[in-house]
Amino acid sequence: MRYIFKSTFLIFIISNLFSQSDKKSLVPGSNRSEGDGPYKRMVIRGATLINGTGSPPIGPVDIVIQDNRITDVRSVGYPGVPINEDRRPKKGDYEINASGHYVMPGFVDLHAHAGSPQKAPETDYVYKLWLAHGVTTVRGVGLGPLEFSLTEKVRSAKNEITAPRIWAYQRPGQGKDWKGGAIRDPQNARRWVRYAASKGVDGVKLVSYDPDIMGALIDEAIKQKLGTTAHLGQMGVARMNTVDAARLGLGTQTHFYGLFESMYEENDIQPYPVNMNYNNEQDRFSQVAHQWKLVKPNGKKWESLKKELIALDLTMDPTMNIYAAGRNVMYARNADWHEKYTLPSLWDFYTPNRKAHGSYWFDWTTHDEITWKKFYQVWMQFLNEYKNAGGRVTTGSDSGFIYKLFGFAYIEELELLQEAGFHPLEVIRAATLHGAETLHKPLGTKPDFGIVAPGYLADLIIISENPLSNFKVLYGTGAIRVNQNNEPKRVGGIKYTIKDGIVYDAKKLLKDVEDMVNKAKKEDGELKKY
Ligand SMILES: [Zn+2]
Repeated sequence: MRYIFKSTFLIFIISNLFSQSDKKSLVPGSNRSEGDGPYKRMVIRGATLINGTGSPPIGPVDIVIQDNRITDVRSVGYPGVPINEDRRPKKGDYEINASGHYVMPGFVDLHAHAGSPQKAPETDYVYKLWLAHGVTTVRGVGLGPLEFSLTEKVRSAKNEITAPRIWAYQRPGQGKDWKGGAIRDPQNARRWVRYAASKGVDGVKLVSYDPDIMGALIDEAIKQKLGTTAHLGQMGVARMNTVDAARLGLGTQTHFYGLFESMYEENDIQPYPVNMNYNNEQDRFSQVAHQWKLVKPNGKKWESLKKELIALDLTMDPTMNIYAAGRNVMYARNADWHEKYTLPSLWDFYTPNRKAHGSYWFDWTTHDEITWKKFYQVWMQFLNEYKNAGGRVTTGSDSGFIYKLFGFAYIEELELLQEAGFHPLEVIRAATLHGAETLHKPLGTKPDFGIVAPGYLADLIIISENPLSNFKVLYGTGAIRVNQNNEPKRVGGIKYTIKDGIVYDAKKLLKDVEDMVNKAKKEDGELKKY
């Protein structure tokens, strides 16, 4: 999501305002006091492994980690019989007994923002929610202002902060010492991309720019080995839809904007009601869902679009969770986690309001929710077919808007991919290997994370439940199960998230978040009821 803007000029103004006042800036992550390790030799023993490639679970395995790298993944026996101790790797200086537990690669969230001074000023809050939900890599789009993203990226790489790995994608025009002004012509677009590359950004976050500017931004990004991801917003989509952008070489489409527009049956522009106003957020978010009936699943246009986008190697990062409240706003507003883990300031931002982005519940109706449910059916069908035909579909969250909380909403994205028709193993692959591949592709390098295998970075999740049978066990609040005494009990929640060989107690991170929320409530009061 993004703040409302209608022109590249306005983007420039907003990004400058964003970085002006120190008082109103995001607070960077605190110096790290959490996590144990890295160890010279750590051994995780007896786990069932889901390695991220799509292979079936296998166990028991012992996993050896030296410093921040996986050096051995050894199958040490068969289920239901004792492990032959002779086959096991030698003792580590730190050992985790993962018998009865599942191990997976850490998750890659390809659409992340670190909050905002208004909503969640302390990034520790956001970082800990991500790590507590197994997210060990984020693509900030942007994480925050350009300079902030780059310093936090370096601090995370050095493990100076308790945070996932950060890939910094930034918006054109950003940068404190960018003197080129607004991006209004292709030459300036190229200059900014070269400036951003010299600063060390990893990629460019695009909107639906004018075709000549979009072409220059993408072409220069490819030359500089920077990634590109685009939210093809409705204000520009009539001139820059998904297939237009993919033909220019766009790397990732995020959200869905531009996809349906690329295959309308009877229209070229969305046939809005004549009193449509984009600055009316309810118009904006209700009308877009009406596109489901403008396309014909498996029709000629649908099939040829699918084929062309796959040939162009476009990654789809749908962020389905961020629109899911549209299908049922009551469930989103009353989610289990708000009470303990949602900051009052974030809650205030979610509250229906004509001036806050994504808080469009002015008069949300049964009809609106049904329209979104139908929209999801068509959208999900396309995503599932895209995956089946060889396309890359990834996981992104875009939390901090529309009742979606960092970390928790990422897990919801996994559930939504399963709803779209993905097998849970395909979901895990989308969340791990395919995310890593998407980040590495612009560099032309092979990912060194996203799989649990020798040689890869030690980014792992350890959980006592089988996530393939129920993704809900990954929520920090767990899943509810009735026990033998007929009592409802919460099970699951990630036990450990390992990033770069450092072991974080996921439940302890959540406790820190809870403490932060309680402290904020002392100042700002409880979550306001309405
Ligand atoms: Zn966003």
